[in-house]
Amino acid sequence: MADFDFDLFVIGAGSGGVRAARVAAGYGARTAIAEEFRVGGTCVIRGCVPKKLMVYASRFRDEFEDAAGFGWTVPATLFDWSRLVAAKEHEISRLSAIYRANLQKAGVALVDSRAEVVDAHRVRLVADGRIVSAKTILVATGGAPVLEPDVPGREHAITSNEIFDLKTMPARLLIVGGGYIAVEFASVFARLGSKVILASRGENVLRGFDEDMRCGVRDALQAAGVETHFSHLPTAIEKADEAYRVKLTSGLEVEVDQILLATGRRPATAGLGLEAAGVELDGVGAVKVDEFSRSNVPSIYAVGDVTHRVALTPIAIREGHAFADTVFGDRPTPVRHEHVPTAVFTTPELGVVGLTEGQAREAYDCVDVYQASFRPMKATLSGSSQKTIMKIVVDAKSDVVLGVHILGEGAGEVVQAIAIAVRLGAKKADFDATVAVHPTAAEELVTMRVRTARYERATPGPEAPDAMPDEA
Ligand code: FAD
Ligand code: NDP
Repeated sequence: MADFDFDLFVIGAGSGGVRAARVAAGYGARTAIAEEFRVGGTCVIRGCVPKKLMVYASRFRDEFEDAAGFGWTVPATLFDWSRLVAAKEHEISRLSAIYRANLQKAGVALVDSRAEVVDAHRVRLVADGRIVSAKTILVATGGAPVLEPDVPGREHAITSNEIFDLKTMPARLLIVGGGYIAVEFASVFARLGSKVILASRGENVLRGFDEDMRCGVRDALQAAGVETHFSHLPTAIEKADEAYRVKLTSGLEVEVDQILLATGRRPATAGLGLEAAGVELDGVGAVKVDEFSRSNVPSIYAVGDVTHRVALTPIAIREGHAFADTVFGDRPTPVRHEHVPTAVFTTPELGVVGLTEGQAREAYDCVDVYQASFRPMKATLSGSSQKTIMKIVVDAKSDVVLGVHILGEGAGEVVQAIAIAVRLGAKKADFDATVAVHPTAAEELVTMRVRTARYERATPGPEAPDAMPDEA
């Protein structure tokens, strides 16, 4: 090992890279990590954390409106975007500093520079041109937003990278896309007071999620004032003084103050030197890895979004940890992407684990569905039109719960706990035998006794797989 400058060189100090570096250093590995932007990565700096802070900010609108039904008189409210941006910046700087301090405490050498792979054991630090060697290199460079669709004037659009730090809040915002980022920001900005238009190539939002939940999210966005244009995309963007004029495929022309492209993210491997080092990438530029996150070059590993497996923070962290256990802890730990719970932070939010009804019906011969749609108790006095939808998908033969889908307040919190039961292979009978907590919305999960639907395949298909997660 002494022949190398480091035992481990990590490229990218985001969720996956930081976890891997800290755990490897804890095993005694001489570790360095390079970061070209801000320590903490997408999640901390321009992803989950600032997004959730903005979600909280946006939900005060609902609270103010609901308050009247409970006897409150709320004086005229005013939202100050620049104060929110400043408060958010303060918090993410604090978190980034903690990440730095933790790396330091773990004995990891932090280099503030872009790093590029030279070969199987060497990395170039772009800031000063230095070349350092390491027995193992970990690529944890994450992903970057794609700038699609490729239409004239798309250079005027922004992505989620820029939206957190806009100088002024757009009075009129066009969001292109129908995935996680599009719906979350549509929900946030509509509540903060923007006129939001959402244009998406799909016929509904959130492809890959359960159909009833997709409809629930769409309806909630529309109820919040979001103008939706499905199966339509921009064809051209033109600057018009301080605003932008956008033509849609429907022929409609809209004038907005900002355009957010939320049309997916791609692994950040461009110019990283991986191909020259012999590392195989897939069609979207992701590093191809095995279950131990090892690439085809034995000394080069990759974790997190750059591998295009499941692009979520807890997955990047888990892959980073498992990599360090495997390579430096003498504990080979494969990462299996099963039973991955996820939440979409619209209002109300969507929390899911396991198979959608559609996926279950494709994979299993007989599927039972238990579904409830109701007005949450809070809405009875507030008069809010918000609805809660819950769905449990069950393999009728074994009674095993294959999937749970919740659209409602706190759905992300609820589904985190439910995911334990689903992972353990809980049966519907176990849900039924669990005592309810009253009065809650979640009690519905253990009191839905009457099946809403049963779907039987006319001809039984091949042996059904074990319950697999919805990796939408
Ligand atoms: P990243 O966190 O992206 O870290 C990669 C780091 O590498 C970055 O800091 C980058 O600057 C650095 N880097 C890149 N190239 C180089 C180089 N050559 N040299 C040096 N440094 C380099 N996930 C959730 O689970 N929940 C959420 O609520 C959620 N919300 C999100 C909201 C938004 C707007 C976005 C964009 C993403 C969200 N995600 C969410 C996804 C989550 O942020 C990512 O899955 C996660 O950050 C991936 O971690 P990572 O370590 O793979 O990469
Ligand atoms: P998503 O993959 O969720 O959604 C991308 C959207 O863009 C889809 O509606 C897709 O349509 C559309 N699209 C893709 N390519 C084009 C194109 N060329 N032209 C027009 N439309 C296009 O990506 P996001 O950017 O929203 O988010 C990236 C990832 O980050 C997520 O997949 C998720 O893993 C993670 N994330 C997680 C969050 C959370 O956990 N709460 C929040 C935010 C992000 P179609 O469906 O037809 O393909």
